[in-house]
Amino acid sequence: MYRFRASHMSDNSKIEWTDATWNPVRGCTKISPGCKHCYAETFAERFRGVPGHPYEHGFDLRLVPEKIVEPLKWTKSKMIFVNSMSDLFHERVPDEYIELCAQVMAAANWHTYQVLTKRSERMRDLLKTSLKSAARLSHIWWGVSVENKKHGLPRIDHLRAASPAMAFLSIEPLLEDIGTIDLTDIDWVIVGGESGPGARPMAAEWVLSIRDQCYRNDVPFFFKQWGGVQKSRFGRELQGITFNGFPCLERSANPPRHTRIEMISGFEKRSAVFVKQRPTRKREAC
Ligand code: SF4
Repeated sequence: MYRFRASHMSDNSKIEWTDATWNPVRGCTKISPGCKHCYAETFAERFRGVPGHPYEHGFDLRLVPEKIVEPLKWTKSKMIFVNSMSDLFHERVPDEYIELCAQVMAAANWHTYQVLTKRSERMRDLLKTSLKSAARLSHIWWGVSVENKKHGLPRIDHLRAASPAMAFLSIEPLLEDIGTIDLTDIDWVIVGGESGPGARPMAAEWVLSIRDQCYRNDVPFFFKQWGGVQKSRFGRELQGITFNGFPCLERSANPPRHTRIEMISGFEKRSAVFVKQRPTRKREAC
């Protein structure tokens, strides 16, 4: 096991604060104002009806058991954003499937995982029960999205109540001044504005208030972007500085090849039972 402070790095993901994405679930449904311009929905719906495309079914929620073993196949250590195209704690993802994903993350411990949700109550409940051992692992970071006071701030309390070893906040898209945040037991904060068509504006003073709170509480602060309709125009500097704060990483060495192959085979067998259990589409109010 070795420790280091990571800096901004990215190889096969365009997201500024991660290296790679792993999507054992695809699709989701909207739950709060932060979802209004969901990039995942826009992307997925582009391919609805395209035969053989991973998003042939658009943004309908689907389990993707074939993807379960993917992190075990990646030999190089990565920072992995789990379910960039869904929400692992969506109400239609079975507990057993979430538990299997957590077991893969626990086994493939040469990576670091970032699990981000808006379904913070379910995450809290599972982290306190069937995912208790995964909550204690420092290479699995559990986080909540915070877009405003009403929906976002209660999620921080849910996250804290679960007492994970590593807890983070993704305050994006920041839609208003969220005031004072209780940063007790929070290990990392990411802030960003909304981007793309119809992007809602973000004021500099809202961001500065969060940055200053992070400084006062010694919490690493990562400023992702200003956003806007053309996000490249506004970049990611805040008062002339790029903020790339990251927590320290702890990484384990890769196991020998034969051990990895055994793990892959075991998880493939266990994930096969979910192939027939894909949830079917159910339209829900946003
Ligand atoms: S929870 Fe995330 S993935 Fe799901 S609709 Fe909202 S923004 Fe999109």
